[in-house]
Amino acid sequence: MRRFRQAKIVATLGPASSGGERIRALFEAGVDVFRLNFSHGKHVDHAARLEIIRALEKEQARPIGVLADLQGPKLRVGRFTGGAVELAAGAGFRFDRDPKPGDSGRVCLPHPEIFAALKPGAELLLDDGKLRLKVERLAGEVADCTVTVGGRLSDNKGVNVPRVTLPLTPLTDKDRTDLTFALDAGADWIALSFVQRPEDIAEARKLVAGRAAIMAKIEKPAAVDRLGEIVDLVDGIMVARGDLGVELPVEEVPGWQKRIVRAARKAGKPVIVATQMLESMISAPVPTRAEVSDVATAVYDGADAVMLSAESASGQYPVEAVGMMDRIVRKAERDPLYRGLLHAHHSDPDPTAPDAISAAARQVAETVGAKAIVCYTLSGSTALRAARERPEAAVIGLAVESRTGRRLSLVWGVHPVLTEDAHDFGDMVDRACRIARSEGFAKEGDSVVVTAGWPFGTPGATNVLRIAYVGKDGAGG
Ligand code: PEP
Repeated sequence: MRRFRQAKIVATLGPASSGGERIRALFEAGVDVFRLNFSHGKHVDHAARLEIIRALEKEQARPIGVLADLQGPKLRVGRFTGGAVELAAGAGFRFDRDPKPGDSGRVCLPHPEIFAALKPGAELLLDDGKLRLKVERLAGEVADCTVTVGGRLSDNKGVNVPRVTLPLTPLTDKDRTDLTFALDAGADWIALSFVQRPEDIAEARKLVAGRAAIMAKIEKPAAVDRLGEIVDLVDGIMVARGDLGVELPVEEVPGWQKRIVRAARKAGKPVIVATQMLESMISAPVPTRAEVSDVATAVYDGADAVMLSAESASGQYPVEAVGMMDRIVRKAERDPLYRGLLHAHHSDPDPTAPDAISAAARQVAETVGAKAIVCYTLSGSTALRAARERPEAAVIGLAVESRTGRRLSLVWGVHPVLTEDAHDFGDMVDRACRIARSEGFAKEGDSVVVTAGWPFGTPGATNVLRIAYVGKDGAGG
């Protein structure tokens, strides 16, 4: 089954999207990658969903990606006598380490790392940024603050400390357990929450040890400040607009979204735009016009994927939300303005053989009107470089290893297919043509552009470009 669009759809699974029928319906409506969100649900639930996805993949004979999203540290205030208090703007309020229930004057903040990093003048945001406090004085593990934006504060509400790099690794004990589970269960992508520094990636890399690709969720201003270094170290990026919009003034998020997408595209690494894309479809069968525009904007910007969170995990219209996203993406990609906007920030190829071949493949495909660029790709890197060119022709990523095919399911324009290594040069061309035809991209007489590393077996050694014509029996000539 092929998709008639190039940007991909990621859908989060949850209580509204469990069970074989529902997951199949989501796939048929357009999901390319399923996200398992380890902030919710038990391992048995995730394992059951993964089993269903792998059975579906077998039946459809098409790689399907699984993204395991780790929770990361969650910072929370303690409890209150009576469960909640009302904080008035202008009032004083204290955070300390005393575990006694709080009142309208103080509450426990059970995170020594926050006290270690706070400075007078810093801001503390509570309950997703609904309440704001400014730190006036610090004495060890006591912070006296002024409430700048008041409201009701109840037990265990979340705390954000924007613009302060906290001495915390993004991998808590829970994340390590979840990571081991996700890797053993065969997740293809691991998304890290709470990334602040490039060093945070190194620790995860060591634990993942090549068993999955690593994605950094950009949700902290500290990560935004070091975006280039972080993009260099990871395999993919998520614009995690939920947390980013708490930590940064919300009006700064669109500009950062564009910069993050641009940085990832320049590096040739897949980037997902996430959170609240079709939020109103949690409880309504149609989205708002603004939401439709938001999804289309990410497509015009050339993001690799758009993502559904609660819309598909716990909403009332999960399949409709995927169908709607599919329609918005397809429409944007057929807009006469699309190509011009997509290439407004085209990056030049790097001075390497794979980039030279990939750039040439795009040009040749455009010149001869080829229906597909068929890339033999061992690690996935050749298909990534081909996708970085954002060609008009489909990119068919021929992978020998299923994990490569699954990772590529997230990448813009790449239709991954599992195949065996070609026996010789002729077989390489024939196989590419046959697959382009059987997957519905080309018919007899159409041309395709084939790229490969010859001899086979060396990752990243792309050195062949061949124009081939699909013959009667599908084989190339
Ligand atoms: C986000 O913050 O936008 C996000 C995707 O992360 P989470 O779902 O963990 O909040």
